[in-house]
Amino acid sequence: MSTSPAHELWFVTGSQGLYGEETLRQVASQSQVIAAALDAVPDIAASVVWKPVLTDTAAIRRLCLEASADDSCIGLVAWMHTFSPAKMWISGLEALGKPLLHLHTQANVALPWAEIDMDFMNLNQAAHGDREFGYIQTRLGVARKTVAGHVSDPRVTASVATWARAASGWAATRSLKLARFGDNMRYVAVTEGDKTEAEAVFGVQVNTWGVNDLVAAVDAVPAVRIDQLVSEYADLYDVAPELLPDGERHKSLRNGAAIELGLRSFLEAGDFTAFTTSFEDLGGLRQLPGLAVQRLMADGYGFGAEGDWKTAIAVRAAKVMGAGLPGGASLMEDYTYDLTPGDERILGAHMLEVCPTLTTARPRLEIHPLSIGAREDPVRLVFTADPGPGVVVALSDMRDRFRLVANQVELVPPSAPLPKLPVGRAVWKPAPDFATSAAAWLTAGAAHHTVMSTAVGIEAFEDYARMAGTELLVIDSTTTLRSFEAEIRANAAYYRLARGI
Ligand code: MN
Repeated sequence: MSTSPAHELWFVTGSQGLYGEETLRQVASQSQVIAAALDAVPDIAASVVWKPVLTDTAAIRRLCLEASADDSCIGLVAWMHTFSPAKMWISGLEALGKPLLHLHTQANVALPWAEIDMDFMNLNQAAHGDREFGYIQTRLGVARKTVAGHVSDPRVTASVATWARAASGWAATRSLKLARFGDNMRYVAVTEGDKTEAEAVFGVQVNTWGVNDLVAAVDAVPAVRIDQLVSEYADLYDVAPELLPDGERHKSLRNGAAIELGLRSFLEAGDFTAFTTSFEDLGGLRQLPGLAVQRLMADGYGFGAEGDWKTAIAVRAAKVMGAGLPGGASLMEDYTYDLTPGDERILGAHMLEVCPTLTTARPRLEIHPLSIGAREDPVRLVFTADPGPGVVVALSDMRDRFRLVANQVELVPPSAPLPKLPVGRAVWKPAPDFATSAAAWLTAGAAHHTVMSTAVGIEAFEDYARMAGTELLVIDSTTTLRSFEAEIRANAAYYRLARGI
């Protein structure tokens, strides 16, 4: 299970043959310096691989085909150091099946004013070479991120780094196999969706297995593995005394550990990186998986409850995008509100399945009754998410397209301790304010299930949505309900037109 596979960004420099060998040598060496500078940025979580300077249509097309075919390449960073006549880029860009970042930069920061001659002018032409490239990308409708500035500027590299994370998330989405155990919660609308369209748009394979296939994997777990895992729990968590080996409910912890081991082996055997469960379809499982789901999410698996495979996709993408960063990502559900005027807060949680990567504190491992379902009491990790900035993102199926909705939020401590609430939870204030956020969210038809990320923010999801060609509505400090409604109306027309007949 990996959230950070070995990934490459290919650094591509455009030019043309007109300049002669000497200038092209300088173009090559200077673009190598730029590529190396990006490669040396610790925040860019991919190798930046320099590619030979491209000077004609055939070479450009060949490079784009190779990038599309190479699974280790998650995206292209393109820069026109000199002037690369952009008709040469048409067939290549039309063949490109990978995310593209247009880096509008140049070799030098300051101009050496007293030294500038026509040789210098001929070499340093990105100011207009990149405009030619921007034109053809826009004319062809090529989705890309454009970042402008010198690579020594931290804002430039931060923006590239965020895009690289989105590209990792997108690559993981394209190769995602998702296992559903049971169907969606009966009668629920928003967790439904078109799984065939999801494969067409996101590349995700969403398929269902009978929950008793999972039960067979759970039953096959050797007792010695359960012993080992139970002792690992004791190392990692504050385990309730009744669950310890000499406690009266230890058997329930062993059952929970068996579910984790069985689920993990099932997912590994099938190469699945996301899954869903359904409390209405537990077959021979002794408990609703709580602890198991929390720990698998912490290891990078996507998860959605009640058969919600769309949120499982979003959780997996967020896990990969945020790999290695402080903070985490989890299934979240807007559960209940504190509507104290001027200090409104959202208390988010789920029945059990909130990921402990949202806290740096040591979770408690407890057992409590679950009022839903007819199984033994489930074991679960109990904690409160750390305060700090975050984002919640929902994925809805709007019939003719998928819609992502993202809300910038600030996680805050609970207003008072929560001694009687035995689940992982988060408390937050949404931007720009509770009333605007909630009204905008409802107007967008966004789901009650979300992925909450405290590792990556809105920009990563913007980059991801652009790669997916998927609508993204953002609710942040600049949002007004009037402009948000206008955007929804415009999008309804735009996305139908953009999709074609
Ligand atoms: Mn739910």
